[in-house]
Amino acid sequence: MSASTSSLLELRQVTKQFGETTVLHPTDLQVERGEVVCVIGPSGSGKSTLLRCVNFIAPPTTGTIVFDGEEYRPPKDHRWIPALGIPEEQRLTRLRTQVGMVFQQFNVFPHLTVRENVALGLRKTCGLGKKAADARAVEELGKVGMAEKAAAYPEQLSGGQKQRVAIARALALEPKLMLFDEATSALDPELVGGVLQIMRDLAAGGMTMMVVTHEMRFAMDVADRVIFMDRGGIVEQGTPEQFKSPQHERTRAFLKSIN
Ligand code: ADP
Ligand code: MG
Repeated sequence: MSASTSSLLELRQVTKQFGETTVLHPTDLQVERGEVVCVIGPSGSGKSTLLRCVNFIAPPTTGTIVFDGEEYRPPKDHRWIPALGIPEEQRLTRLRTQVGMVFQQFNVFPHLTVRENVALGLRKTCGLGKKAADARAVEELGKVGMAEKAAAYPEQLSGGQKQRVAIARALALEPKLMLFDEATSALDPELVGGVLQIMRDLAAGGMTMMVVTHEMRFAMDVADRVIFMDRGGIVEQGTPEQFKSPQHERTRAFLKSIN
């Protein structure tokens, strides 16, 4: 299945429901290659849901996602045909490896060393042997300043260091898109800057990124486009410059509330 779009990512009328509740109203969105999109909005507005739909961690209820020229549809479209369900799962697995995600709560594996955390995906997904995966893992850790902690366990690390490991683990799989869901919200204030700097460097290196953040300075500096969400939908989007004078009252109220 392929679809003609030059964008890296396209959402067409994507929705997400939990039972009777619609948490993401029909949403259209395109993300270009190399673009950095920052997503802002109040708690509960659907920011995490939007990101989780993109990589099918929370599959959309309806709509279509086109990623790198491949079309993906909600599982309900193939759920009843097991013979089709298996290859679809394989396609989704591939999609997920091409879309790296970093969460607020780190999600590093506590029982694995830092090196093993990064090497695991390289072995399972890229099929590298242990030695090659370990070497690549240390290389990736070096890029985020964590090589010397390769033998440590997550509990021995600060939140900022855990988040660097999570970033290295995602980047090791050479994703085409990186999703950051409030990656710095759980960090002590003095550790936020270091993680944001890694994200800035990644953006400057041309990575396509969707970043849910409350760090407005980061969004204003780094984003090509800012999206404001409220009540399960995109209310307004534009360049950081345009967000200096928002069009919608809800956007103005939100920006005022976080400043
Ligand atoms: P945000 O990230 O902007 O804070 P979320 O995307 O996490 O918002 O949540 C949007 C809405 O969806 C919220 O009202 C939340 O309670 C609801 N929601 C999220 N996940 C689930 C779930 N698994 N089951 C039911 N409701 C959910
Ligand atoms: Mg969230």
